[in-house]
Amino acid sequence: MDLKLDSPWQKVLNEIKSWARINSPWAIHYNSGSCNGCDIEILATLTPRYDVERFGIKLQGSPRHADVLICTGPVTLQSRDRLKRIYEQMPDPKFVIAVGSCSISGGVFQGCYNIVGSIGDVIPVNVYVPGCPPRPEAIINGVVQLLESLKKK
Ligand code: SF4
Repeated sequence: MDLKLDSPWQKVLNEIKSWARINSPWAIHYNSGSCNGCDIEILATLTPRYDVERFGIKLQGSPRHADVLICTGPVTLQSRDRLKRIYEQMPDPKFVIAVGSCSISGGVFQGCYNIVGSIGDVIPVNVYVPGCPPRPEAIINGVVQLLESLKKK
């Protein structure tokens, strides 16, 4: 069935899609040059002790199935194009969470010969989670902030 963009059915359909996205966002994780400290904290967030799946968050292997891109580390010359490609492969609407000081500013890698900059220099970022590395509680707080901002839209 073909629905017109301004039809009431289209509005209901969009509301259902938005409800599903908020209650079960699928995420993909990408390390664009981190030291792995932030990645270990993300793994801890996903495992049963912190259990981010209680928010319906599911880790995905393919950007084509993901709503949220969770990035760690500064962006290196080698990873810049891959980061852009992963972001472009995600379907709209898509959201980005930058985890760790390096992803926000380059952190301790700032000024290195192979560093392009922060995640925000390459792709748009919705939520920043500071820390070196941020604790799982801070990462969960970042995810909750993103979901709260989606509810207001
Ligand atoms: S913020 Fe700290 S732990 Fe995370 S990638 Fe940078 S140096 Fe490593």
